[in-house]
Amino acid sequence: MSNETFEIPSTVKLRLDGDALVSNWQTLDRMSGAASAGAAIKANAYGLGAVEVVQRLQTKGCRDFYVANWQEAKEIDSYLEGDSCISVLNGARAEDMPFAATSAAKPVLNSMEQVLRWQDTSRPCDIMINSGMNRLGIEVTDLAKFDWGNLNIDIVMSHLASADEDGPQNAEQLAEFVGALQYVSGKRSSLSNSAGIALGQAYHFDCTRPGLSLYGGKQRPELSGSIKQVVFPETQILQVRQLKAGDKVGYNAKYAAERDHPIAILAMGYADGYLRGFSNRGVFLSGQTKLPVIGRISMDLIAIDISDAPELAESDWVSAEYDLPIASNQSGLSQYELITGLGHRYSRYWV
Ligand SMILES: *Cc1c(COP(=O)(O)O)cnc(C)c1O
Repeated sequence: MSNETFEIPSTVKLRLDGDALVSNWQTLDRMSGAASAGAAIKANAYGLGAVEVVQRLQTKGCRDFYVANWQEAKEIDSYLEGDSCISVLNGARAEDMPFAATSAAKPVLNSMEQVLRWQDTSRPCDIMINSGMNRLGIEVTDLAKFDWGNLNIDIVMSHLASADEDGPQNAEQLAEFVGALQYVSGKRSSLSNSAGIALGQAYHFDCTRPGLSLYGGKQRPELSGSIKQVVFPETQILQVRQLKAGDKVGYNAKYAAERDHPIAILAMGYADGYLRGFSNRGVFLSGQTKLPVIGRISMDLIAIDISDAPELAESDWVSAEYDLPIASNQSGLSQYELITGLGHRYSRYWV
């Protein structure tokens, strides 16, 4: 046995378009008007890689980065430059305090318990107000009862529950947030995620917090013209076979050939986040040619019909159709689930 270490090339890759990422941030920053756009990079930048996203956006002028927890803050801490800062959206638990009180990152304080815990540190913080989503955030009625003068508050924020829809909740939350700002003020205020940016100037305040649309999400029609696809899952053909009319494919025989045709078996499956909803509905691309998924998605394998690209052979690469609104429609998954679920087997490469 030799001790050589082998580089084993992966069978699934994520091609990540750095220019599209930058372009999306610039678009969202422009759409934010006088407010400056930050970047939500929680969950490893929605699966793309937080360090790479921070580095690309910071050089273009992005300064405010939002993570979910202190592990995520710690991972990107040493990449921040100048006046860039990190906000930790899930706040500071008691067990976070030893690290948090020495970190350059700020907690977003979500409850009065967290406010009391933080106030002795005299370090900067953000405040989250509950304007009607009833997830995290301090109640407006509690704001009036407290003396905020002892806290070093940067951003006072709230979060929109339904910015991707046109119902009454957006205006209700806006009014609630504006009302709350008479009781607590920081250096800046912030209300909008990606979809909220498209709701117009009243929703922009001083800074905006886009996440999904940086990575290609288009949750509102206003975003569909200008936001570009960033994430392109790719995989390799392991085997090509010829079906005869009547042949069945995959678990539970969910596809039966109506004519003789060639198929390819791909080295990707639901363990790579390409979930069951794509069975008989998803599409792969070879160049511009669309190749439909046939049968059920397996854990590590997918079958596609290659009638329209019969030249494809073992070891060729194809990519999943992954424009997020289209893939969401095919699979029944949300645009958020489609990118955060892509998993660990991909080798990620930026172009
Ligand atoms: C995740 C998150 C965002 C970003 O939301 P997108 O819909 O991905 O743009 C902004 N603010 C808060 C508080 C969040 O949790």
